[in-house]
Order: sequence, then structure tokens, then C-alpha cells
Amino acid sequence: MTTNRRRSPREAAAGLLHRSARAAILKAARSPRIERWVSAHGMRLGARRWVIGETLDEVVPVFRELNSRGLGGATGLFDDDAHDADKIAALQAAYAAIIERLGEERLDAYVSLKLSQLGAHVDPHSMHASMRDLAARAARFDMRLRVDMEQSALVQPTLDLYRRLRGEQVDNVGLVLQANLRRSEEDLQRLLDPAFNVRLVKGAYLEPPAVAFQRREEIDAAYLRLLRRSLAGPGFTAIATHDGAIVEEAMRMIRELAVPRERYEFQTLYGVATALQQRIADAGHPLRLGAPYGPTWFPYLMRRLAERPANLSFFLRNALR
Ligand SMILES: Cc1cc2nc3c(=O)[nH]c(=O)nc-3n(C[C@H](O)[C@H](O)[C@H](O)COP(=O)(O)OP(=O)(O)OC[C@H]3O[C@@H](n4cnc5c(N)ncnc54)[C@H](O)[C@@H]3O)c2cc1C
Repeated sequence: MTTNRRRSPREAAAGLLHRSARAAILKAARSPRIERWVSAHGMRLGARRWVIGETLDEVVPVFRELNSRGLGGATGLFDDDAHDADKIAALQAAYAAIIERLGEERLDAYVSLKLSQLGAHVDPHSMHASMRDLAARAARFDMRLRVDMEQSALVQPTLDLYRRLRGEQVDNVGLVLQANLRRSEEDLQRLLDPAFNVRLVKGAYLEPPAVAFQRREEIDAAYLRLLRRSLAGPGFTAIATHDGAIVEEAMRMIRELAVPRERYEFQTLYGVATALQQRIADAGHPLRLGAPYGPTWFPYLMRRLAERPANLSFFLRNALR
């Protein structure tokens, strides 16, 4: 994979247009008026292409249909950070209900959650107790629980919690490592063992240069280094990206290292880069779609539109119809 080719004037102009459109969408995402309007009409106008639903009842049949096509699912709640005990308790109960429902429906699906939803910023002790409880519930259905990785300040607490759980023989919890963070390669090296289950991502949070690579080429190169090390290791690797070049390189590494199917899968977000999803499935690789749900889907939708402003035209066409 080449990452340092000089861009043509046409590509540079397209890049500029993309950045301007992205900035405009992110600005719109901060407007309460636009939020109200999109939240009221967005699902009807096509948000459903990226937002699986507002309730678990809407998620279950979609996951069943995905499973029937050989695709797995992963879900969690959109809800933002929990800053008080009541909200933390409500989110923990909601996650327990999701685990029970997915398990009882015998779906190939698991739960992906954020530690800030379980009180990472409030009470690390209750967060540990919540994780233990949720992991035990998931284990009854032979289900995995994945902890999403958030901003860099939460990386160490997340790894500490993971180690503590592993020390308590909890082995159905997986983590996420972000290629943009400089520390991730060392973290991976320390975590590698047969029970380690990692999702590799580029990293969604804006981080300062002291802790994170800034240039796309550096992040892509770091992703490929992490990927090779993880695929060559003894654990399970979830390759989460919509980047076709990285997917191709991953498929090459899987062949070269003869990685068995039980030790990796590709992951994309529901509705994103659907042609790439098809390519992965057609090539016979395992694929799981991440599909968070809940009523507060507006910021998630705007992030997906900002990642690919061309998607906005799909939305506007429906609005003008
Ligand atoms: C399943 C999953 C779980 C994730 N979990 C986390 C997490 O826990 N923590 C975290 O920090 N980040 C997480 N992320 C987000 C991740 O860090 C990136 O921000 C995000 O995936 C964009 O990076 P990319 O690898 O797709 O490549 P990019 O370099 O952003 O994009 C590469 C190419 O992908 C295509 N593409 C990207 N977005 C779209 C889109 N919306 N529509 C159509 N095409 C698109 C375009 O062709 C683009 O050129 C997760 C991503 C996925 C897929």
C-alpha cells in the first residue's frame, strides 16, 4: 500500500471541497434548530440507512436479517456520558436488557459500550462492578462485551479495568486500540495473549500531537503495523475500517500469515461503505456491522455525513421529493 504519493491538482481540489463540505456539516451539527428538524424528519428522509433504529425492537429484526446473510452485529446505546448515579444505573440496566435480549434471541451479535456511560468520569469502583455484572450476564450466552475506546485520557483507566477483570478470570471482554495514538503499539505488545480480543480502529477523537499522530499517512502506517502484529499474535483481531486500501492489505496479510477464520473478522458501521462490505463478504471473510441505536442519533448521523459529504445528496434528494 503506497501512502506518500503526491496528489494531482484535481485530487487537491476535490480534497478542498470535501473539507469545506465536512466543516459545513459539522457546523450544522451544532445548530439546535437543525437538530430539532432532522430529529423530527430525518428517519423518514433516509437516516435509517445509517441509524438502525431508536429501540431494541427495531434492532433485533435487522440483526436477524444480517445473520441470515452470514453477517454479525454489534450494538450499544448512543447516549452520551453519564455524570450522575441515576443515569449510570439507568444505562447499566439498559445494557443488561440488551445482553439478555440479544442472547435470548440467539443472535450472532454482541454489545459494545463506552466506559463513560458506566461512570468512568464519576466512580471507577461502581464502573468495575457494572462491567463485572454485564460480563457475567453476557458469558451466560457465550457472548462478548466490547469496551469502545474513547479520548486518550480514558485509555489507561480502560486498560487498568481490563487487566483487573482478566485477573478475576473474566475473559469475554474485548478492547479497542486506536492507531492514531502513539502508545497503542506498546499497549498491544503488552496485551497480546490468547484471550486478547482487540478491535483495531484509526481513532475517532481529536488528540494533540504529543499523544497522537496527526497525518493520515502516519495513522495508516501505524494501523498496518498494529494489524500485522495482532494478526501474527495469538489473540483475535477485529479489523474495523472503511478504508478499502487497508482492507486489501489486511486480506493480503491474512493469506500470508495463514490466519484462521476463528481469529479475525472485518468490522464496518451499519450502512457505511456498503460496496466495501459486499467486497469483504464476497471474498468469504467474516464481517460484523456495528450499529448503535437509541433516540439521540442526530450527532451520530451528522458524523457519518461529515465523513462522506456525498451522502448528504442522498438526504437532500429525499427532502426535496
Ligand atoms: C465497527 C467500528 C467501531 C469503531 N469503534 C471505535 C472506537 O471504539 N473508538 C474510536 O476512537 N473509533 C472507533 N471507530 C471509528 C474509527 O476510529 C474511525 O474514526 C472511522 O472508522 C473512520 O476511519 P476509517 O478507518 O473508516 O478510515 P478513513 O480514513 O476515515 O476513511 C477511509 C475511507 O473510507 C470511506 N469512508 C469513511 N467513512 C465513510 C462514510 N461515512 N461513508 C462512506 N464511505 C466512508 C471513504 O472512502 C474514505 O476515504 C470505529 C469504527 C468502526 C468501523
